[in-house]
Amino acid sequence: MFDIGGRKDWWNMPPLVDGLVRAGVPRISSKYNVNEILEQGGVALSKIQSVVWSRWYYDHIGDIQQFPKPTEVVVGPGFKKTFVPRYPVNKDTPISNTDFEGRNLREIEFDGSLMIGGFPACDLFGDGSFYMLDVPGHAIGHMPGFVRTTPETFVFLGGDVCHFGGSHRPTKFNPMPATIPPGTPLDGPFKAPCPCSVFTACHPDQANARTSTYYKVSKSKGSWYIHPEVAQKSVNQMSEFHADENVFIYLAHDPALITICDWFPNGTIHDWKEKG
Ligand SMILES: [Zn+2]
Repeated sequence: MFDIGGRKDWWNMPPLVDGLVRAGVPRISSKYNVNEILEQGGVALSKIQSVVWSRWYYDHIGDIQQFPKPTEVVVGPGFKKTFVPRYPVNKDTPISNTDFEGRNLREIEFDGSLMIGGFPACDLFGDGSFYMLDVPGHAIGHMPGFVRTTPETFVFLGGDVCHFGGSHRPTKFNPMPATIPPGTPLDGPFKAPCPCSVFTACHPDQANARTSTYYKVSKSKGSWYIHPEVAQKSVNQMSEFHADENVFIYLAHDPALITICDWFPNGTIHDWKEKG
């Protein structure tokens, strides 16, 4: 499992999380934990060998204690060092000691011997099915996934590298077409085909509206990025994935995916290219 979302009883996480949620997203709610969604969809939790935490925030780490002890947790560089000691020894940490009682915590090291799309990579299971990528800037240990969906196609599970499609596209490698082609699903009142000027009219960089991103990584106080300049470089580097017709980019928080993609247990990620 790559990320296990939020936890329905988030108030039972360490008090630091409780405070952050009440202050930042007070109406957050989820009906089920991901472990319940898996079981409802017919996947036994005992089949889950590894849970990857793409980052350590409450909206990605779920309730790992609901998974059997043999399920390991995989984290990115710097995690162990940062979150020791854990709650309750350290009251000011979002990570709980009980999460790892009897459970293996595996921190990925990137030595640079394997690169994918310009990012240091690690072959998680040693069989080329799933790679972890070192994509810094957003949070300590932020680590997207790169999953092989067919022998030739891949999905980049971007985690929180950025949060909207407009943060990483369009690019000069893959510009917005002059006319949005027929059949393209569009929001609200728009019907394809339609001129791209409908969308470029609000672009902040009018001279490069079809080839540059709408948004930049926020450098404001209170931004979600620990190192905004590094994060912007990571986002820029994603243009290689965007340019490759065999790679589909899934961002953890991209709301457009909800209407476009098939969802567990009713669909699979593997046929994304075939489905257009
Ligand atoms: Zn997130």
